[in-house]
Amino acid sequence: ITESEQAVLDEIEAEGVDFLRLQFTDILGTVKNVSVPARQAEKAFTDGIYFDGSSIEGFVRIQESDMRLVPDPDTFAILPWRQKEESAAARMICDVYNTSTGEPFEGDPRRVLKNALDRADEMGYDVNAAPEPEFFLFEEDEEGRATTKTGDQGGYFDLAPKDLASDVRRDIIYGLESMGFEIEASHHEVAKGQHEINFEYDDALTTADNVGTFRTVVRAIAAQHDQHATFMPKPIPKINGSGMHTHLSLFKDGENAFHDDDDEFNLSDTAHSFLAGVLEHAPAITAIANPTVNSYKRLVPGYEAPVYVAWSDRNRSALIRKPAARVPAASRVELRSPDPSCNPYLAIAVMIHAGLDGIEQGLEAPDPVRENIYEFDEEKREEYGIDTLPANLGEAVDALEEDEAIYNALGEHIASKFVEAKRQEFEEYLVDVSDWELDRYLETF
Ligand code: GLN
Ligand code: MG
Ligand code: MG
Ligand code: MG
Repeated sequence: ITESEQAVLDEIEAEGVDFLRLQFTDILGTVKNVSVPARQAEKAFTDGIYFDGSSIEGFVRIQESDMRLVPDPDTFAILPWRQKEESAAARMICDVYNTSTGEPFEGDPRRVLKNALDRADEMGYDVNAAPEPEFFLFEEDEEGRATTKTGDQGGYFDLAPKDLASDVRRDIIYGLESMGFEIEASHHEVAKGQHEINFEYDDALTTADNVGTFRTVVRAIAAQHDQHATFMPKPIPKINGSGMHTHLSLFKDGENAFHDDDDEFNLSDTAHSFLAGVLEHAPAITAIANPTVNSYKRLVPGYEAPVYVAWSDRNRSALIRKPAARVPAASRVELRSPDPSCNPYLAIAVMIHAGLDGIEQGLEAPDPVRENIYEFDEEKREEYGIDTLPANLGEAVDALEEDEAIYNALGEHIASKFVEAKRQEFEEYLVDVSDWELDRYLETF
């Protein structure tokens, strides 16, 4: 038992925790739980908890289904929704091991991110990340099912009383804070019913853990208010969708490795190469960072979501933005394509691998584009050498299969299962007949 494990055991005792939820995620990024009585915590640390992985998306085949969960004591948190007054439930996020080999399970997305961080570490870097998840709050109907109606008339940065959902948002923030989140800002987003809550940057692993927790807490607390919180990227056409801009920076020996006072953009050569790597691998990253059919309804011109593979130190139509940094330590790049339907472990992992690849290859970033790229025609884009992101999930999956570096970064197990699942999802979509088609054709022909 380590010191931090003992600290967890003490807290379980002190807080009267009776149940422990052991969490991990499947390939699609869905948080899974195995609940155990809290008195099993010590055994969980020393031996792990065995579970049947055969029914978890993409985990294993039936005949090799025994998995072992080992909780990470750093992720211990009391859940903000208490069942009973006198007791509490807590969670820990786990690493998944293969029981037959004893090795980390190659289908564990958290492992994929750890591999990316190991690669960074070998190059001398620590990685920090911060996401900006956006979401919609919708009303439930009488049966408690989600609608796409919002009771709210607010707009970007509007305050109460217009922002009727601010009560819900406040409770969400209390819930997150009670789980150890440092909330930096929260505001009403551009669209009706749309919100954003920003939490403080952290090391990339903690940040990926936090995204999973964030989605869980937001949904649970919204539900307590009879609201449905959705991280679906584009629930309503012709208004802004929900993104999850992701800020990344590398640190070397405690110093921000992206900062350079002498550079026109205050970006170091390392940052320029990292950025160039992300641009180079952007199509394959899209499959992971934008993994649903619906994701591609967001990546269209005109709604502050990226469509074109370019970077900018000014405008928000580019794929990568270099935000102004108040202090050198805050130098970072912002990837604007990810949406909150992604698996945060895999998405952050592929971004890191792409950037490190750029550094290893010594890639040079193109010039930033300072004009509004949405307004460029094809000719102008060609002149600037600007590519377009995959137009749909099918194209994105093709790009992932063609990009060896990114495909391999996921490991064969996850990459092949992901490609298979997403191809199937896209094909299902292609043969479906949508409301749009019925509206357009049913009475016309
Ligand atoms: N909702 C926009 C997106 O889809 C972002 C808007 C913003 O944060 N400025 O990425
Ligand atoms: Mg923001
Ligand atoms: Mg935003
Ligand atoms: Mg942003």
